Amino acid sequence: MQAFYADHFVLPLPPGHRFPMAKYALLRDALILACPELELQEAPACSDEELLLVHSGAYVDAVRHGRLSEDQQRAIGFPWSAAMAERSRRSVGGTVAAAFAALQDGMAANLAGGTHHAYPDSGSGFCVFNDLAVAARGAQALWAQSHSTALPVLIVDLDVHQGNGTAHIFADDASVFTLSVHGENNFPFRKEHSDLDVALPDGCDDALYLLALSDALAEVEQRFSPGLVLYQAGVDPSELDRLGRLKLSAAGLQQRDRMVFEWCETHRYPVALTMGGGYANRIEDTVQLQVNTYREALRCWRRWHNLAP
Ligand SMILES: [Zn+2]
Repeated sequence: MQAFYADHFVLPLPPGHRFPMAKYALLRDALILACPELELQEAPACSDEELLLVHSGAYVDAVRHGRLSEDQQRAIGFPWSAAMAERSRRSVGGTVAAAFAALQDGMAANLAGGTHHAYPDSGSGFCVFNDLAVAARGAQALWAQSHSTALPVLIVDLDVHQGNGTAHIFADDASVFTLSVHGENNFPFRKEHSDLDVALPDGCDDALYLLALSDALAEVEQRFSPGLVLYQAGVDPSELDRLGRLKLSAAGLQQRDRMVFEWCETHRYPVALTMGGGYANRIEDTVQLQVNTYREALRCWRRWHNLAP
């Protein structure tokens, strides 16, 4: 399974910054050991043309040339630097590449991405550009080159925070279905309307979560038939998470991932996996939860391609 990384494009942060930037490189190191069958490749930088499928020219220029205001940088949560701009493009490029690879091979992944709080002309919550939205529109554009019908894209966003930017971008676009399963009391405090929102209470455990997810997937099945699924597999619903407010165990999160991948595999929906959030006190715990996601992805990948389990 192809997987794209961009951790060597480091986004410099001031000492003590609360974003766990080291998790990206640690994840790649851990996956080399735990999942040697992954075909790891450097994420390409996405093009202006791709970004402009979603973002305004003024915003793309502001990120490129360092013209983000203090307020814009504060909302994003990262100080601007040339490296931050490059890193953001690579993060989007990895998801675009994973989406294209999934259309070819059934499944693929970006070791970064899932930046679902970004809007067309502003970033927010550690998200500069919205990789899921750019990849959805990019895949549709690629598809349109050789097909007469539009590519329907489903975004399954299981990060504990609502995918507000993504919901806003596709609010009037019937070709993209947005599902967000999130904590009702979490950031963002003003929610947008996804095509299907499932808001869970503080302290939600494995059983309640998995039932809600199963119901949500059943409802999606009634309402939409995707040609591509983009999966935002944030591990911040974990009980170990500092920001999450939900109480999923490691086994529960792994079952969550299995449910999504098996659902895609059963229906033969190509699926591209992106990282999303994860803020455990010990960064190793976040990385382990993400490795578990890859184990589940690869389990389905082998079945998809009739390889030995
Ligand atoms: Zn999150």
